[in-house]
Amino acid sequence: MALTPTENTAVSATTETDVTTPSVPAPVISPDSPGIAPSEHPLEAPRLTPITPQPGKALYRQLLPGIMQVPADLLLAASRKSSLWPMTFGLACCAIEMIATYMAHYDLDRFGIVPWPSPRQSDVMIVAGTVTKKMAPAVKLLYEQMPNPKWVISMGACATNGGPYTRYDRVLQGVDKVIPVDVYVPGCPPRPEALIDSFLALQDQIMEERSVEGRS
Ligand code: SF4
Repeated sequence: MALTPTENTAVSATTETDVTTPSVPAPVISPDSPGIAPSEHPLEAPRLTPITPQPGKALYRQLLPGIMQVPADLLLAASRKSSLWPMTFGLACCAIEMIATYMAHYDLDRFGIVPWPSPRQSDVMIVAGTVTKKMAPAVKLLYEQMPNPKWVISMGACATNGGPYTRYDRVLQGVDKVIPVDVYVPGCPPRPEALIDSFLALQDQIMEERSVEGRS
């Protein structure tokens, strides 16, 4: 196609401009690019720069800022104290208060405390009521059926030392004569608030003895 003089001039001018200022493609920077070491790459350089250890600051905190370090025994103890499963059985009138504590008004579930009807998966025994010498072997058997670690709460005066029936020969003078007790709850009967307080004390005790090995 024939061009008019004006169009010819325009085309020539454009061509001249292209020749004088040739467009240079932007360099593609990649770690694989020849001639660029990984340590010079703008993204890699900060990570590959050797760290100068700062005194007073752990090296892993300098290498991995934001990381949290927690002892394993602390995690285990926190898990145990936050998921106590008391075995459900009552021996006398204290059991009524224990049942009331499980109800919605006091709501033990908010502490992770869930009543469990079997010793095989329970880790807390609440001895709630009078322990007779006839009943003591059954209490001991249930305790031994619970897996380790396990804890015992003696609820009320009867379980602690016989309470009002301490003069009777057929009443055990405290359940700690047959199984170890971790927390004693005073009262005849103790109120649900007292039982909740004993659970909080037991949780503190679990955290305190977290590093003790061989807790049975
Ligand atoms: S301590 Fe009092 S309320 Fe509890 S079982 Fe004994 S007599 Fe009953």
